[in-house]
Order: sequence, then C-alpha cells, then structure tokens
Amino acid sequence: MQGGLRLRLAVIDYDTCKPKKCSYECIAVCPVNKSGRGVAIEADTASRGKPVIYEDACIGCALCVKACPFDAIYIVNLPMELEEEAVHRYGVNGFKLFRLPIPRDGQVVGLLGRNGTGKTTALRILAGELKPNLGRVEGGEPGWDEILRRFRGSELQTYFKKLVDGKLRIAHKIQYVELVPRRLKGRVRDLLQRADERGIALELAQQVGLDRVLDRDVRQLSGGELQKMLIVAVLSRDANVYIFDEPSSYLDIRERMRMARLIAGAAKPGAYVLVVEHDLAVLDYVSDLVHILYGEPGAYGIVSKPYSTKEGINVFLQGYLPAENIRLRKEPILFRKPAPEAAPATAPGAGREASRRRIVGWTSLRVALDGFTLTSGEGALHGGEVIGVAGPNGIGKTTFVKTLAGVLKPAEGAVYPYVEDLRVSYKPQYISPESLPDATVEQVLKAANPSALAPGSWLNLELVKRMRLDKLLDRRVRTLSGGEMQKVAVAAALAREADVYLLDEPSAYLDVEERVGVARAIRRVVETREAAALVVEHDLMILDYVSDRIMLVSGEPGVRGHVDDPRPVKEGMNLLLQNLGVTVRKDEQTGRPRLNKEGSYLDRMQRARKLYYAV
Ligand code: SF4
Repeated sequence: MQGGLRLRLAVIDYDTCKPKKCSYECIAVCPVNKSGRGVAIEADTASRGKPVIYEDACIGCALCVKACPFDAIYIVNLPMELEEEAVHRYGVNGFKLFRLPIPRDGQVVGLLGRNGTGKTTALRILAGELKPNLGRVEGGEPGWDEILRRFRGSELQTYFKKLVDGKLRIAHKIQYVELVPRRLKGRVRDLLQRADERGIALELAQQVGLDRVLDRDVRQLSGGELQKMLIVAVLSRDANVYIFDEPSSYLDIRERMRMARLIAGAAKPGAYVLVVEHDLAVLDYVSDLVHILYGEPGAYGIVSKPYSTKEGINVFLQGYLPAENIRLRKEPILFRKPAPEAAPATAPGAGREASRRRIVGWTSLRVALDGFTLTSGEGALHGGEVIGVAGPNGIGKTTFVKTLAGVLKPAEGAVYPYVEDLRVSYKPQYISPESLPDATVEQVLKAANPSALAPGSWLNLELVKRMRLDKLLDRRVRTLSGGEMQKVAVAAALAREADVYLLDEPSAYLDVEERVGVARAIRRVVETREAAALVVEHDLMILDYVSDRIMLVSGEPGVRGHVDDPRPVKEGMNLLLQNLGVTVRKDEQTGRPRLNKEGSYLDRMQRARKLYYAV
C-alpha cells in the first residue's frame, strides 16, 4: 500500500513461533535494534522468551518476517483510519478484528470469508460472550459507555444498548459439534426438553428426523445428528438473537435444505438471525444480506459493508470488493462448466472412458451386512476420473467401496478388478482428535508418503503448500482446529499411492477457497496417478465442480441402500435435485449453482419443464 499514514500491525503466531529452535533470528536482523536508537522487537520474559514486537517503534521493514524460519510473523500496513474501527484484539501482537457485521431486525445476516478472519470472534461479540476491547490491549479495557460511543449513530449502538440492558436473549449454535458430547451429558430428549422454551423441540425433532434417536445418549450421536440436535435446541429457545456458526457441516443435501428453511423461518420481526456458512448454495438460500470478512487469516480481519446476498457472494467469488476497492485474491473463483458429456458408462469400456486405465468394474450387486442390504446397478471406475457421490448419511457408500476393494463379498453379482491388489485410500467423514494418531502433521504426512514433504514435488505443492499445511508441520494433529484436522486428513489420504480414493465429505469445516483448493488437489492426484476418486460431497457447488460423473445412492439409512449407475454430471444433478424437490439455476456472472426460492417464477417454470438443474 502506498501513500498516507499507515497503521502498523505486527502479529506473531505464538503456536508456530519456536525461539528455542531458531536463536532469535528475527531479533538479530531488526534494523531498529541494530541502530541502537530503540527496540522494535525483543524476547519477552513474561511470555517464556517469545519475541514481542512494539508497533510504535517498528518501521515495517519486514526483515524479521523473512528471517523467521517458521513463518510466524506478519507485518501489515493498513489505512490509518481503520484504527478508529478496531473492535477487538487478542493481546499484544495478537489477531485484530476491525468492524462488525450489523444484525438486522427480522432478517438473516450471513457472514462469508476465509477461516481465521474473525467470523467466530464477531459472532461471540454479538452474542455477548466476548466483550470487545476496541483493539486496546494495554491501559485497561474499555467500559460499555466507551464501547457504545464507538458505535454511536450506527445500528450496532442500538444493538449493544439492548445487549447491555439485558434485553437480548441469545441462542448460539457453536461451530464444532463434536465438542458437544464432552460438554453435555444425558439423553437427547432430556437435553432438548431442557432447552425448549417455546414448546416446539419435539415437533422440530420429528421434522428433522431426530425422533428415532430421542432416547439415545448424546455420546452415541453421529456428527449429523449432533448438528441437527443443536439447531433444534437453538430454535427452541425463546430468544431474539439466533446465531448459527456453520449449520450445514455433516448434513446431507436434503438435511441442509431443511435446516436452511427452518433457520430462515426464525427471522421474524423482533428477532435477529446471524449465520456463518461456507456452503454457498445454503448461504445464498438462507441470507437476506451478507457481510464479507477479509484480511490475513490468523493476523487480522475486516468486516465489509453489507451486500445483497447475490452481489456479496458474487463479488467474493470475483475476488474484488468494489465498494471498498479491496482485492481479496489475484484470481476469481470460477466454476468449470460441465465438460461435454460422454455416453453413460454403464459397462467397462463404454464412451470416452474406453481410452483410460480401467480400474474396477461391477455387475448388479447385492451385499448383505448386519441387517443392512446394499444393491447396485452395474458400472465401472476409470483412471483419471472423479465420481461425485450424493446420498444421505448411513446409506452404504463405505460398504460399496469396501465391496469394490474386495474387503466385503457380494451375496449376488461380481466385482472384476482390472488391477491386482486394488489399493484404496479412505478419508472418513468424521475427523476428531481421537480418530487421528498422536503425532505431528509432518509425521502423519511422512507416513502417508514422504514425497509430500519433498520441496518442489507436485505433491508438496498441491497438498502442503496450497492447503497451507507448511505452517502446521510441527503441530500435533490432535491440537489442531476442526478445519485444520480436516485438511491434514484429506492431504494424507491423497498423498497415499492408491488406485481408488474414497473421500467422505472432504469439505467439512473448510472455507470456500479451501474447498476449491481441495477439489483441485483431488483432480490433480487422480489425473497424475490415473486413479479414480469417489467423493462424497453435500455442497452442491463443490459436487458440481469436482465431478466428472455423478453416482446417486438412495434408500433408507441403516436399512437398505441402492447405488445407481454413474451418470453424466448434468443428468445426475438433475435427478438428485428432482428427488430433493428443489430447482437450481446458474448465476450468470459466476456460473455458480443457485437454489430457486420455492414457488418463484423460475422454480415453477423449471419444474414444469422438469429442468431441476439449469446450470
Ligand atoms: Fe524490526 Fe519491525 Fe523490521 Fe521486524 S518489521 S525487523 S520488528 S523493524
């Protein structure tokens, strides 16, 4: 940035900073220290010898940034005016948030942005769980009078006044649902009844299909069931602020639609609704307005002005905020138009797949397993192709892949592999600390494939650099956030040499850019290795983006499932959406799929023409 006074922000990632391993190279190179006229950076005895940077003395040369072997330091120069809009800072050299989203009475306000840019911090402040310090980390925290003065003249002042006066009752659905069983104990029915201030919990539970698990202990619930339980509990509270932090993780597409409708229904006069969501089809459907959060993940975040939902999502994807004159990234995120459709490959050797390495084929199958029956049509997997798999949770997708891999034997039909000892690499749906080894990220990736750590290799570029795992290599995987664990699990699964990759919901907890990055990595891996990937994906945008063909799995979860033949993307998406009873159109600017509002002109027109997927 050029011209004018700049606000200097020096942020140190103390998780990554390891002074014992680097002999303080950051301090040694500092020209301010060397000049003897002051101290800009020094080891702070109060923080166990970790460096501290004094922003007033620092001249912003960034030599310490380059010297740090762990990339733990950020030096950023921002417009000075932003200081007036600082909302919160996590300590000296900690993450700093500027501005806040503005809750609107009777409307759903969506938040969109990269992980680590302050969405959860903003929600916690608006929920009254975190008192904003206005970016001041020394000299005493501000009182509410000062905080109210800061937001004078804006709708946030009214909001905070109500909050301080105890006039806001807040219901907040947290981001990481896996944490719930550690904090709550007891039967689902009892927990819901305890939250049920509106007398609707059991009715909502039935609507979302939780009635079957009401008498189970909360520790026995799957991630999707925990997600639904929390959403029902929040909606059952007699609140006037409803906050949902990533409500769609672990839900299949039908459940996402159902939840989106319920959340949109909470936006009644007198109620504020805020939603953080990375599934753009869901965010688009549920929000009236969106704020975009941008900045440097882990260092600072800035909340944009509110945009209409369509415009906000589009400018985010384009990577440029015109009102703020801010470029979010060099390249826009564009959606690949469906490739020219090949003839449906219902048998090995059909269509354009004939020229590719054949991996495995199957006839109609019937697999019986512990009271669950899986059937399938016939089909085949070819090297270099990604099959998007869509279907509810618990419908037999893993059973199917285990059958292809020869782990399970079908009662009827046959699997005929074209490669000896078919190798399958699997990323399960739920990633929790307990499901991962007690090791560092580096050790996990090395065990999967040492090449992933070799600088300059394509695996290192796709899986470590692009997914920003290089900064996490020293961290123990069990201490990572949900999104970071997800990236490690996906990278390890893709690093392994295999013929078939099964990736069950690789985008959970990832932001939009990370989702697109993972989709690109999947494509690169299958094309380079001539392997096939089955990607179970509930984000419509990513399902369309990543798939060469689509395979639908339907039935009754836990009882029976049927795996349909892989179909061309357009045909598969059309059938999927027809089964879900929703219609989707293409956004003209970005090519992204957009859900039509039920009963709208486009919805009625597309239904009449049986064009459920007009993309
Ligand atoms: Fe010193 Fe600041 Fe330069 Fe770092 S950026 S070397 S702290 S002057």
